[in-house]
Amino acid sequence: MVFNTPTIFASVALVALVMAFCLILVGQEHRRDGMRAGGLGLLAHAFAYCCFTLYGHEAAWLTYGVGNTLLSLALACYSASLLRIHGQPVPWRQIFALPVLMAVALMALIDTREPRMFAACLVLILQCLAIMNWTWRHARNGGRAHLLLLLGGGISLVGLMLRVAAIASGAAAELPYDVSNLRQTVSVSIGTVTVMMFSLGLVLMAKERTEAALRDMALRDALTGIANRRAIIEACEREIERSRRAGTALTVALFDIDHFKRINDSHGHLAGDAVLRQAAGLLRQRLRQSDEVGRYGGEEFLVLLPDTGREGALTVIDGLRSAVAAQPAAFGGLALPYRFSVGLWCGVPAPGDNSDSLIAHADAALYAVKAAGRDGVSVAPDRCGQLAPASG
Ligand code: GH3
Ligand code: MG
Ligand code: MG
Repeated sequence: MVFNTPTIFASVALVALVMAFCLILVGQEHRRDGMRAGGLGLLAHAFAYCCFTLYGHEAAWLTYGVGNTLLSLALACYSASLLRIHGQPVPWRQIFALPVLMAVALMALIDTREPRMFAACLVLILQCLAIMNWTWRHARNGGRAHLLLLLGGGISLVGLMLRVAAIASGAAAELPYDVSNLRQTVSVSIGTVTVMMFSLGLVLMAKERTEAALRDMALRDALTGIANRRAIIEACEREIERSRRAGTALTVALFDIDHFKRINDSHGHLAGDAVLRQAAGLLRQRLRQSDEVGRYGGEEFLVLLPDTGREGALTVIDGLRSAVAAQPAAFGGLALPYRFSVGLWCGVPAPGDNSDSLIAHADAALYAVKAAGRDGVSVAPDRCGQLAPASG
């Protein structure tokens, strides 16, 4: 089916204009989420297509030169929006060099036919490739919005390639914007797909990113940046299940800072906060990647050591306690020494075990260390009821 080419341009312009209005309206509130740049891109896209509708009625510098420069500007804005959504710095000069190149090339070649068409297609192809490359590089695990941008970019590339092939095969006379034929209908309609997929892709990508940030916030402790209580308990359930299935040992360790209240009382809550941050950082830094650490309570940390039995766990915990002893927390020029008491449960989880029961065992062992004078380690009794001694 052949559609009237200027009518297709006008429809795309209308769709882009409405979407631009929506994105700019919403984007005003959140300047850094890329929506405004996406909206400005759609606005440029709409004006570009308005210029194309006038082709044959107005001068070529306006209908072809300005039109294609605006289209290139639209792609530059989509690139900026994409990078903003991902919180990446926007290389403004690099991105906007291409629309400038488009403007200069088209003004120089405006009185030609094939060369100006080639130049316009080449710049737009480069921009689509750049958008696809950035989209691919920043694709979020689990997210799917990037597929829309990749698809939109891919379809635009196909449209542009069709035009390049037609020009190369001597069919440029079929491609002016006021001519209607099947080739034009296909290649110009692709503009609609680009507008829809890029705008929807950018909006959904921003939504995915916000959701991921919220999920992360819900599972991260605001003060220390490590897993919060909910996240570490979920991790504990996961590790118990994994150890039980694999029949491997797991260590659940509860770390509690000794006399932490005294740090708050003597130096203030901000000093206490600094100690908590540095203690969490030190634990995270010294544990293996596969180990997990989270803030279980005020000054209590839960550490999970997968594939680690009693002896291995005691070695790791001795190492951590020595590191803590060697590295007092720093606050406002003060060195604040602190110590940990640690209660451990080690073993292969049995069918009835869960995070509550194993943490309760570790907590009982921790209580034994506190009762014995603090600054030590105790292992919870094993299943035969054998008591493991507390060590200082
Ligand atoms: P123990 O050796 O028996 O563990 O004594 P403790 O002083 O460490 O323990 P206690 O439970 O008596 O006090 C814990 C203190 O931790 C009380 C609470 O105000 C403080 N705390 C809890 N969360 C935070 C926090 O986020 N920041 C600061 N600065 N203090 C906190
Ligand atoms: Mg405590
Ligand atoms: Mg304490």
